[in-house]
Amino acid sequence: MLAITSSLRRPRIRPLSIRSSSFSAAAAQAERTIRQGARNDWSRDEVKAVYDSPVLDLLFHGAQVHRHAHNFREVQQCTLLSIKTGGCSEDCSYCPQSSRYNTGLKAQKLMSKDEVLEAAKKAKEAGSTRFCMGAAWRDTVGRKTNFNSILEYVKEIRGMGMEVCCTLGMLEKEQAMELKKAGLTAYNHNLDTSREHYPKIITTRSYDERLETLQFVREAGINVCSGGIIGLGEAEEDRVGLLHTLATLPTHPESVPINALVAVKGTPLQDQKPVEIWEMIRMIATARIVMPKAMVRLSAGRVRFSMPEQTLCFLAGANSIFTGDKLLTTPNNDFDDDQLMFKVLGLTPKAPSFSQETSPAFEEKESCAKAASGSA
Ligand code: SF4
Repeated sequence: MLAITSSLRRPRIRPLSIRSSSFSAAAAQAERTIRQGARNDWSRDEVKAVYDSPVLDLLFHGAQVHRHAHNFREVQQCTLLSIKTGGCSEDCSYCPQSSRYNTGLKAQKLMSKDEVLEAAKKAKEAGSTRFCMGAAWRDTVGRKTNFNSILEYVKEIRGMGMEVCCTLGMLEKEQAMELKKAGLTAYNHNLDTSREHYPKIITTRSYDERLETLQFVREAGINVCSGGIIGLGEAEEDRVGLLHTLATLPTHPESVPINALVAVKGTPLQDQKPVEIWEMIRMIATARIVMPKAMVRLSAGRVRFSMPEQTLCFLAGANSIFTGDKLLTTPNNDFDDDQLMFKVLGLTPKAPSFSQETSPAFEEKESCAKAASGSA
């Protein structure tokens, strides 16, 4: 009798995430992220399991986390200008600006203040709210005059009401502090790939040196912009490794650019096959689930993706693009096409954000410095 009663009971409905065979690590971890918020104790296996989830599931759950953590209609437009092009001493295998490769790119000196400010003004008028300046240098050590000029540029552009980002190679602690004082919003220094694959791509600086620069940037109270490039001949495990390193930093980068290699003739990676849209979606959605609050930037290589393909990237969790004719030295999407895309998709340009400007880390450092100078 008892057995009959229990068999007549209504079946117990399981929670959504474990209801059916659609259960995946992406579903479980997205649910956890939404419930618990950002965390930096990810194991590599956890990140891998998210990354390996069926792509539609990954896309769906990336979108869920995205809508939870951000206004999904907002996409930030950034402009990246190469203010000092070519002639770089480093050997990054993907880069046409390295002096070691014959790519036909002419080395140029640092652009003048007028040229840079004019470009920033145009970028602002075209809807960009972040202006990024890139210089092809190993580091800024011994470049006092140029560095001081860049501090000026930062001050002026910040004064225009734009977020300002720089990518100038490796930084020393003091330089990071100076950039912060000048009003720099963010510093970009990509990890590029996994620690394991890195030596096959760059030999002239180490992974740990990159991480050290990120630490100096963070300690100075500047937002960290750090991501990577796919299509460098890496295995999927390396993509997982890159995301795992970023997601387990003491604080997640505020900005994570995901680039698809634009293979340039004359570089060692000139014959790499183009990245497919599914690979981008996998990267973007995984980044979104493991670093929910970061701005995930659909960066280099976007020029090869159609509007529907880019739509999938936005759905997966990307919320920023680079606009303008060029991305440093490689071609970028047409301005009018981007405007049309915003219109068709109902996207709105994201306003600038200066949330990190009084970061506790910076305030603490400043008061330490003041206390130290006072006691001296
Ligand atoms: S990526 Fe940067 S550091 Fe590397 S070669 Fe190009 S400009 Fe130099």
